[in-house]
Amino acid sequence: MSTRTLNLDDTLYHYLLGVSLREHPVQAELRAAMRNHPHANMQIAPEQGQFMALLIKLIGARRTIEVGVFTGYSALSVALALPPDGSIIGCDVSREFTDIARTYWEKAGVADKIDVRLAPAADTLDALIAEGRSGDFDFAFIDADKANYDIYYELCLVLLRHGGLIAIDNVLWGGSVVRPAGDEDTAAIQEFNRKLHADQRIDLSLLPIADGLTLARKR
Ligand code: CA
Repeated sequence: MSTRTLNLDDTLYHYLLGVSLREHPVQAELRAAMRNHPHANMQIAPEQGQFMALLIKLIGARRTIEVGVFTGYSALSVALALPPDGSIIGCDVSREFTDIARTYWEKAGVADKIDVRLAPAADTLDALIAEGRSGDFDFAFIDADKANYDIYYELCLVLLRHGGLIAIDNVLWGGSVVRPAGDEDTAAIQEFNRKLHADQRIDLSLLPIADGLTLARKR
């Protein structure tokens, strides 16, 4: 027995899913539909979606932000966990992907909770701040272009209330973060992780779930 996080082989991973995964039928349908999509790896893992749904309920989130919607699995997970008056402002630049997302949100009956803003996410977040919505949000999920993670993080930190939570995806970046960065994305994630480690504005935990998920609670 070790105190280190287990390396999950396929057998153990499928055991984990088998004894814990509780997907809404539309979540399962969306995941099946995306299995052969060329960007399937941009969809979060189902156990991560379930974990984020639990976080939403634990912190009693109502107003949330998602930076990087893709085809909507993470927003679907969050929307299903939100109360009836809960909402997601989804930032994305792809109509193609978010149109796919919307068909599944509608099928699951949560489409009216999700407001997609088709624009660069920093513009949408800046606009929310300009509208006076700083401190107004409970939860943000950042899962978009890695080079801009720090910009999204700083803007979300302004928009969150104290005690609100930011979840940031792909912070282990396939394990490449331990090697000298050979590309801009890896370098950005390395720098971002270093920065958050020292950031006293937040409480911090980096979870080795899926591709690495950092939780930052605004102090
Ligand atoms: Ca991701």
